[in-house]
Amino acid sequence: MTRVGIGYDSHRFIEGRPLILGGLTIPHGRGLAGHSDADAVAHALTDAILGAAGAGNIGQLFPDDDPQWRDADSMELLRTAHELVRGRGYTLTQADLTVITEQPKLTPHLGPMGNALALRLGLASGSVSVKAKTNEGMGFIGRGEGLAVIAVALLEAR
Ligand SMILES: [Zn+2]
Repeated sequence: MTRVGIGYDSHRFIEGRPLILGGLTIPHGRGLAGHSDADAVAHALTDAILGAAGAGNIGQLFPDDDPQWRDADSMELLRTAHELVRGRGYTLTQADLTVITEQPKLTPHLGPMGNALALRLGLASGSVSVKAKTNEGMGFIGRGEGLAVIAVALLEAR
């Protein structure tokens, strides 16, 4: 049996934090605000995986008012969520993500980001694809206030 899930996440840009996406630190003047490390790529994929398994969402698993998750490594939260759905008999076979941001230009980082995600989840290289686009100058993303990520994950029953 195949199951599909979608995840969405957005965070505000702020000064004084590193920009972490898909576990990689991306050179940029600003990072993302959040209780954890604010890795929106990891968060969107976590929600896609949980959604596909009908296992709730990232906020239920790792509440952002719980001091345990302050500055948490979101790639570790992602791995934990994947372990949870594996425990329910599913395995992640493929994921596709789109990062929507005006800045920085992410093209050189997309391949390494997909590989980092696949590696952390124990998947074959090439199983996770990450794309990037701008929002054509429109809305909060267009004004550079923040970025958003959409993720789709495919689970197979083992
Ligand atoms: Zn988030």
